[in-house]
Amino acid sequence: MKARAWLGGLAALVIAAGVGAYFFRGEIATRIFERAARQAVGENLRTGLPDGLHAIFCGTGSPLPDRTRAGPCLAVLAGQHLFIFDAGDGASETLQLMGVQQNEIEALFLTHLHSDHIDGLDTVALQHWASGASREQLNVIGPIGTARVVAGLNEAYAIDQGYRMAHHGPEVMPPSGAGMRATEFAIPLADGEELELWNKDGVRIVTFRVTHTPTEAVGYRIEYANRSITISGDTSRSQSLTQAAQGTDLLVHEAISPRLDAIMHNASQAAGRENIGAIFNDILDYHTSPEDAGHVAQEAGVGALALTHFLPQTPIPGLTDTFVQAAKSTYDGPVFAARDGDVISLPRTGGMLRSHHLRF
Ligand SMILES: [Zn+2]
Ligand SMILES: [Zn+2]
Repeated sequence: MKARAWLGGLAALVIAAGVGAYFFRGEIATRIFERAARQAVGENLRTGLPDGLHAIFCGTGSPLPDRTRAGPCLAVLAGQHLFIFDAGDGASETLQLMGVQQNEIEALFLTHLHSDHIDGLDTVALQHWASGASREQLNVIGPIGTARVVAGLNEAYAIDQGYRMAHHGPEVMPPSGAGMRATEFAIPLADGEELELWNKDGVRIVTFRVTHTPTEAVGYRIEYANRSITISGDTSRSQSLTQAAQGTDLLVHEAISPRLDAIMHNASQAAGRENIGAIFNDILDYHTSPEDAGHVAQEAGVGALALTHFLPQTPIPGLTDTFVQAAKSTYDGPVFAARDGDVISLPRTGGMLRSHHLRF
């Protein structure tokens, strides 16, 4: 009888504790949120980085669904100057979660006008405007066609911009900063030809043609303090990229795994989804295998290779290891499978540092 009473008391205590925890859980979460919010709102990624050139991975995915990777996006911090290269879906959110202040973006460069590289532009433009009361539109620099994309997006968001200006007022949302302006360039015709797009405050950015037929596409090289980063954009194995990347400190290269792509192709065929199967077959000829990305890195004598724009998606831990191993079979230097939130730093004083900056 005594034991039963004791057990009953214990059960009542457990239930009471559970009910108490249930009621207090929201309060505890709110206190944690308050502390996290203070840190997050005051955060600026650049303040913790040394003077130099930094590759900030704000989107390492592709058009295929992967909740751990935003669409293609690389932010480059050169000294105090912030640039973005491509803005795929989710890129702006990833930049926020990394503590990158988007009102500080000086220019956003596009490698080409495929949907996966531009479908996050609208949100970057909104953050560029809203997060710091920018009085100038986001400068979007890209190949011919960029003005049409920008005009279309500006039109699509004109009603939203009107609402925000009316609600918050011109001091918070200056009318002159709404949306984007386009700066177009003609892609250099020949392999080996470069076009200088930026040369200010010690930062130089050049562009060159890559091979993404039938898409008109470019890569970029960014130079600052005798350090450099070369970006492949989307391309099959490219001679002009190999030339442009000669001696660069860091090559950021896209990658498609023919083996994993074949698995997706075969699964699509087996499910009777011939159209999807055909697309998996078609994409092989305008992307680069990790072995070939390694060849480019080796021939260009780069300091390190970071793989990005993973095709197909890599939802299982360990899948990107196959990309790294393949690239290492053809390139002697360090190879990284970039993740959203990664930063590869090239300090002015030399060397290379890696860090990760992605909060909830
Ligand atoms: Zn792409
Ligand atoms: Zn593409």
